[in-house]
Amino acid sequence: MKYFDYAATTPPYPEVVRVMSDMMQQHYGNPSSLHRYGEEADRLLRRAREVSAGILGVQPQELIFTSGATESNNLAIKGAAMRRGRMQGHIVTTSIEHASVYESCRQLEQIGFDVSYVNPEPDGTVSLERIQQAFRPDTILFSMMHVNNETGAIQPVEAAARWIRQHYPRAVIHVDGVQAFGKIAALPLHTGIIDLYSLSAHKLRGPRGTGLLYARQGTELFPLLAGGGQEQGYRSGTEHVAGIAGMTKALRLAAERQPQQQQHWSAQSDELRSHIADIPGLILTDVAYPAPHIVHFTYPGMKAEVVLHSLEQQGYLVSTQSACSSRRAQPSRVLLSMGMNPEQATGGIRISLGDEHTAQDIQQLAAALKQVVTALRPLERRSIQ
Ligand code: PMP
Repeated sequence: MKYFDYAATTPPYPEVVRVMSDMMQQHYGNPSSLHRYGEEADRLLRRAREVSAGILGVQPQELIFTSGATESNNLAIKGAAMRRGRMQGHIVTTSIEHASVYESCRQLEQIGFDVSYVNPEPDGTVSLERIQQAFRPDTILFSMMHVNNETGAIQPVEAAARWIRQHYPRAVIHVDGVQAFGKIAALPLHTGIIDLYSLSAHKLRGPRGTGLLYARQGTELFPLLAGGGQEQGYRSGTEHVAGIAGMTKALRLAAERQPQQQQHWSAQSDELRSHIADIPGLILTDVAYPAPHIVHFTYPGMKAEVVLHSLEQQGYLVSTQSACSSRRAQPSRVLLSMGMNPEQATGGIRISLGDEHTAQDIQQLAAALKQVVTALRPLERRSIQ
């Protein structure tokens, strides 16, 4: 099987597995325990925090380790909104966010907050102008992803953050960096331009169930998990030290390899696009600023799921919509908000690249896709009449 679904999850690097296995076998103490096993685990946790902070260009005490980006996003959004003890205020986000941001905002609406969901342009980008128009004097929080997980569209987070700092200095700024870190140039977190930044280890060839939230010094958060007071009281629960060590390793490798990987993936995605552009009926999603590792297209009139399973039979694994929502046969919220019609928005297919793909893999995938849709098209046309 050739795996082309790296935006859903990635196989952990062998080095990551090795670090985690060593930790689980040899350093299984609880960092809160006072004996030597506890002290050793605490030392390793502190070391992982220092190294991760160094890679991100932030201070160790600014990192909160979590169970993944879903938790990081929930903590960022609900924690920042509820910090003032008043269940009111205005939030600006976009209609293309990952469900963990979008649904957190929906929950906040239910308890009294007011949320503006800014729509993207047809090219997948949320314009700075539309963000500016959504701001109000009572806006307390802004949340936007750096790269969209479905279309791969890069968003103008830095420009938005700069404008917000200047015009609404009291608004907290959150960025979901899950699909961007290690893929495109890192945001300059060291400048303090962003208050909250979410990452997930398993998108970076680290382990699943581990993530982090960077919270700039002085950013107030209402903790969502109460308990033993770990992670400076922001996230109670015994720390997953092995997972955190594995994530640290993955962060380091992703950061080191990013510039070469970006070039490599860009060349491969361009090649893939050029190979499949002439397939009759296939519409490449024309993203203005595409991330290097994601190629997205729609095939109106053909069920995306059917294409996916036919490709699978040929040995290629791809994705329809994003992994988190692909089991629901509804049009994609992201594609609809870009202005696609429901038929098109139900037919999205995402191919996402990893560092192991070769030029030959790309050519073979393109050939398989051509063959699959050519064979399916007459059948599918009949079945949907
Ligand atoms: N944000 C984005 C942009 C994502 O792509 C994902 C994973 N699909 C998440 C958040 C959630 O991350 P996790 O799987 O670690 O909860």
